[in-house]
Amino acid sequence: MLAEIRGLNEECGVFGIWGNQDAAHLSYYGLHALQHRGQEGAGIVTTDGNQLNAVRGEGLVNDVFNEDKLRKVVGHAAIAHAQYATASGRGLENVQPLLFRSSTGSLAIAHNGNLVNAAHLKQFLERSGSLFNSTSDTEVVVHLIKKSKQSPFRSKVKEALSLLKGAFSIILLTNDQMIVARDRNGLRPLSLGKLGDAYVVASETCAFDLIGAEYVREIEPGELLIISNNGIEIDSYVEKGKRTMCAMEYVYLARPDSNIDEVNIHMARKRMGKELAKECAHIEADVVTGVPDSSISAAIGFSEASGIPYELGLIKNRYVGRTFIQPTQELRERGVKMKLSPVVQVLKGKRVVMVDDSIVRGTTSKRIVRMLKEAGAAEVHVVISSPPMTDPCYYGIDTSTHEELIASSHSVEEIRQAIEADTLTFLSLEGMVRATNRPFEDENGGLCVACFTGKYPTEIFPDTVLPHEKDC
Ligand code: SF4
Repeated sequence: MLAEIRGLNEECGVFGIWGNQDAAHLSYYGLHALQHRGQEGAGIVTTDGNQLNAVRGEGLVNDVFNEDKLRKVVGHAAIAHAQYATASGRGLENVQPLLFRSSTGSLAIAHNGNLVNAAHLKQFLERSGSLFNSTSDTEVVVHLIKKSKQSPFRSKVKEALSLLKGAFSIILLTNDQMIVARDRNGLRPLSLGKLGDAYVVASETCAFDLIGAEYVREIEPGELLIISNNGIEIDSYVEKGKRTMCAMEYVYLARPDSNIDEVNIHMARKRMGKELAKECAHIEADVVTGVPDSSISAAIGFSEASGIPYELGLIKNRYVGRTFIQPTQELRERGVKMKLSPVVQVLKGKRVVMVDDSIVRGTTSKRIVRMLKEAGAAEVHVVISSPPMTDPCYYGIDTSTHEELIASSHSVEEIRQAIEADTLTFLSLEGMVRATNRPFEDENGGLCVACFTGKYPTEIFPDTVLPHEKDC
């Protein structure tokens, strides 16, 4: 997983718990499990029933929290966030959960995803007097809630959420309730669990495993859960749209030990490798290797299906921090070498199948192919466990322009030449969808595949009509 030097960056991770006196510590562990989704900042907001208490900071979970800080955020409920800054921008003011104190009731929010109509909503809100503390899209949601003339609070939230377009898994916290919602297409994952009598929600089920919580179910697209000392209420804020969960969660983003829609990520990736092996039966090779970490599962699957032995041809140096990766060409080059090392004894004189999960710009793939050849590989056959990424993602994965995507303007053969591989094969869309083995009849198994097809499940820059606009 070379996200930060490849140009395909992780999404954020959200976590929430209601009904456990150790909510802050449990959130801290939850964030540890979700750390792969965002390393730029982390925060926890708790409630003791009287006030909301926050600890937030930039950097990794371990840099932000310590025992002293966690002891200060007391309470029986908490929401937490691991941040990767996409549309929201960087800086402490953008680190979530965002907390708004008010005499009419304080409110905290944690959000995973990207709103495609945030700019329009923000423009409207600013025109009608709202002042923003951050550049985060997430703040828009809070202003919409505060502006709503509906009553009670739940209806304000429902109205605000119904105006949002795009991807969101959101957790709101007040002194007396935790409200959980997922966008109408279910673009970003969000699961519900239980820890004794406490309710837990998390972007990925690996967070439940770490704290010993039991998985209950996925939160449905368009669903709204209200969790309080009275238990859990199931509601919805909008009619469910076409189910389109992000396919890249299976390919690359989620942790292999997580399950999404009850499909284990590692097993799905292994099946992608098997599908790939079927689709490139013509390749003759001596060893299969995967680009660590996210491509290892697919490489194992490829090896099992093709009969070509799996080997550790590339080793990841786990102790290189993000701070070393600078955006100049030379330092990027060095960045790859610091992150990955070839195992010469495995590669020398061998025809190598190199499995990777995706190609974004192609520059990292080229560096890895060169690295394998410099280590003595006789041939390098690059196989990719997803289709060519031709279109940008507007839902929170950080590929925002066509120019960043080599497959948007180059054929497979042109990409092969650019990355200096002997052959290049991408998994077909059908093969990828089949490999996920999702339990839905919907088109593409209920997956969003827009970055491979350009067919987006929502409008991209919609001209939203706001009920408030009629009031101004
Ligand atoms: Fe995921 Fe691609 Fe859809 Fe974005 S466009 S949500 S990365 S499948």
